[in-house]
Amino acid sequence: MKKRYLMTPGPTPVPPEVLLSQAKPMIHHRTPEYTEIFVSVIEDLKHIFQTENDCFVFASSGTGAMEAAVANLFSPKDKVIVTNNGKFGDRLVNIAQIYGLEVKELKYEWDQVVNPQDIKGLLDQDKDIKGVLVVQSETSTGILNDVKAIGELVRDHPAVFVVDSITGLGAVEVKTDEWHLDVVMSGSQKGLMLPPGLACLSVSDKAWQKAKGSTLPKFYFSLEKAKKAFDKASPQNPFTPPVSLIVGLGEALKMMRQEGLDHIIRRHALLAEATRAGVEALGLELFAPPEGRGNAVTPVNVPDGVDGKRLVKIMSDEHGITIAGGQDHLKGKIFRVGHLGYVDKFDIITTLSGLEMTLAELGHPVGLGKGVAAAQKVFLDT
Ligand SMILES: *Cc1c(COP(=O)(O)O)cnc(C)c1O
Repeated sequence: MKKRYLMTPGPTPVPPEVLLSQAKPMIHHRTPEYTEIFVSVIEDLKHIFQTENDCFVFASSGTGAMEAAVANLFSPKDKVIVTNNGKFGDRLVNIAQIYGLEVKELKYEWDQVVNPQDIKGLLDQDKDIKGVLVVQSETSTGILNDVKAIGELVRDHPAVFVVDSITGLGAVEVKTDEWHLDVVMSGSQKGLMLPPGLACLSVSDKAWQKAKGSTLPKFYFSLEKAKKAFDKASPQNPFTPPVSLIVGLGEALKMMRQEGLDHIIRRHALLAEATRAGVEALGLELFAPPEGRGNAVTPVNVPDGVDGKRLVKIMSDEHGITIAGGQDHLKGKIFRVGHLGYVDKFDIITTLSGLEMTLAELGHPVGLGKGVAAAQKVFLDT
């Protein structure tokens, strides 16, 4: 028997209540029963996105929301600024390029935070820029980019501001309306505590105006089709929705509303703080700079003399704790502890304890219990 702990920044653990709700008998998606669930899901999503904007759900992983944003807002050769300080920024650049946009890429090292002034520089030079695309919480590095400051800059420019908040939403503050975020994306297997398979996004009036002129091809991911179906007398989806996931999302959002958004964000901040304290007490170094540390995932430098891939493998194979390794050029160099969604203090304590044992097994000098004690102290002091 092996008890498993899923400590990755997606997929994340799914609460039993949500799992059970998804096991209910199937209902048809063109019925009042489904419509009632769907409408309340959209209302609850707006609450979590902190927005009055339209919200949509597609049956895809989070990348579908990224593709939907690009395909619906822009036209071939549109000039867009895309920031890139990690794997997902890189993906946004790729999607924009594949759709034939003229991408002004703001490329950073993976341990750097996006500088809003760089965006301002490009926007000031060129009034013809149609969009600014930024990953808020860069899951590959844990870095949090300041979308509030960028929103202030883009707000008075004709460009739309598109934010990948796939591991931001539900872990850090995302004030869609107050911060002028025109499109915000999320995915089910991150802070929303669901299995993979749903992409969510919000669309502002400014984004709808842009969407009207868009000539890029889209069919399944058409926001216009989604809006038409939702605006019917009995709101629905244009195509068969993933009914069980929508039912599960309803349950997850109910749990989130019960906990309260402020509390959710405070809980994630505390989990992140305890994780950082724990790994630092073990003499390990954090990868992300202090000015850009998010709440969803904590990347840690693999200490010299330790095989990073083996560390991740021993954690999983020997101790049942799944953490994430580094991506691309950071493979083997960092490991990432996810603390996103249905996670609480003893998940962190368990993970740190497993990490101590793993380091000891790998022959790295480590004071057993030191990381755990540092995390306990953070939890006790708060
Ligand atoms: C998970 C994630 C995505 C989407 O990835 P999928 O595998 O398609 O769900 C996009 N951006 C960020 C920042 C993510 O963490």
